[in-house]
Amino acid sequence: QGSLVIVGTGISVAGQMTLAAKSFIENADIVFMGIMNKVGEHVVSSLNPNSFSLDDLYEEGKSRAVTYSQMTERIVEAVVSGQNVCAAFYGHPGVFVTPSHEAIQRVKALGLEAHMLPGVSAEDCLIADLGIDPSRYGCQSYEASQFLFRDYRIDPYMTQIIWQIGLAGEATLSVLNANHSQSGLTMLADILSEHYPDDHELIIYEAATLPICEPKIQKVLLCELKHAKPTLISTLVVPSLGMPAYRQDRLAKLGLTEQQVI
Ligand code: SAH
Repeated sequence: QGSLVIVGTGISVAGQMTLAAKSFIENADIVFMGIMNKVGEHVVSSLNPNSFSLDDLYEEGKSRAVTYSQMTERIVEAVVSGQNVCAAFYGHPGVFVTPSHEAIQRVKALGLEAHMLPGVSAEDCLIADLGIDPSRYGCQSYEASQFLFRDYRIDPYMTQIIWQIGLAGEATLSVLNANHSQSGLTMLADILSEHYPDDHELIIYEAATLPICEPKIQKVLLCELKHAKPTLISTLVVPSLGMPAYRQDRLAKLGLTEQQVI
């Protein structure tokens, strides 16, 4: 009977793959790769020669929703045919990845075994490279386009981690490069301006995808954000305005004072 395990390769492929992920890749009958990076594909293929990229399913003009369901289909079909399948995605395979979660649900619904291993995500690298502890101010982490399309709330006292800014406002999901995001980025900047001063310093962040490389840490003022040129692997960080005021009413109810809870 077939089975499925979904693993992450980390962002910097050589070094951030867990030992468990490596072992599942090595022992699978077949490995599917959604890694978007030739070096990463090479690392996985050298662990298991029966590895196949899913990237051929991306096409300019084709909706990414279609691409993702075709990826899911390929993975599930291989499991149904009786193979022990491993699917390897870059970063954490469950973070901003649709086909990984879908494939697990589909395989489980067929009564077959499926599970996911955690991996090192872009957010994990960001925390380390930028020295931001998400618990310091609390953290809101979300996708740029969905944020623009829907009525979300920003809490400027929390750190904002905004994913896929290279595709901000891109609705058709059919674009494969980041040249179309300028109007989305301008809108995002306008929304942020309702909460932060114009000279608030933001960070456009790219974790190193190779062990020998440095991360790209570009500081940009909020008023300049609309001119920025993010790539498909850029993540935007908006630092917190600081700690919010105390809620004296709640402290009083708990019988506490500010001095006691610092
Ligand atoms: N599964 C991946 C995320 C895939 S979604 C993970 O675990 O990190 C793609 C988005 O992830 C990008 O638009 C960007 O916001 C972020 N991302 C991917 N690679 C990155 C990198 N090298 N540095 C910073 N952010 C990255």
